[in-house]
Amino acid sequence: MARYTGPACKLCRREGKKLFLKGDRCYTSKCALERRSYAPGQHGQNRKKTTEYGLQLRAKQSARRYYGMSEGQFHKYFLMAERKDGVTGTNLLQLCESRLDNVVYTAGFASSRAQARQLVNHSHFTVNGKKVNIPSYLLKAGDVVAVKESDRTTDEFKTLVEANAGRPVPQWLDSNKDAMEAKVVKLPDREEIATPVEEHLIVEFYSR
Ligand code: SF4
Repeated sequence: MARYTGPACKLCRREGKKLFLKGDRCYTSKCALERRSYAPGQHGQNRKKTTEYGLQLRAKQSARRYYGMSEGQFHKYFLMAERKDGVTGTNLLQLCESRLDNVVYTAGFASSRAQARQLVNHSHFTVNGKKVNIPSYLLKAGDVVAVKESDRTTDEFKTLVEANAGRPVPQWLDSNKDAMEAKVVKLPDREEIATPVEEHLIVEFYSR
């Protein structure tokens, strides 16, 4: 299935929670969810009966949309998470967090995951000194992500890094904003992942 390219705010309204898909706007009163906190569409304001399946589906869709992934890709991550040792739900979130586009965003080099994905696609980043333009590239402990050397002095990146300087960076990432590089110290523990989902519902969804 192709990647969703429609209005981002509609997805937050569908999930009933902020997925922070539009950068700075998400933190202002212009946020669509603050102005219209009901689901989109003609019947969006009707009361709905929530089933167990409905809860599981919404948990899965929220996480998938939060990281900007297609259904096929997200399911593939779930299968990978199942094969790994440990708790499947945590493994799944760890895989999502270790994507290159997520690290670029989390380290403060982009205002949203969508912007991070575009910057990676346009070859503005390196991993361990080598150009990588695949947003889904999975990073491991010790990897260093950096803005391409020729881009570090551009106004675009200086402005971007400055604009995102106030966003806290989790401890599993060592972000050096002056050098415009970030090191993956380790893969994140569950409590270091801020994703607003209950991953056990996702596991239940795929285990039906
Ligand atoms: Fe979601 Fe951000 Fe749009 Fe608010 S502004 S609805 S958080 S994408």
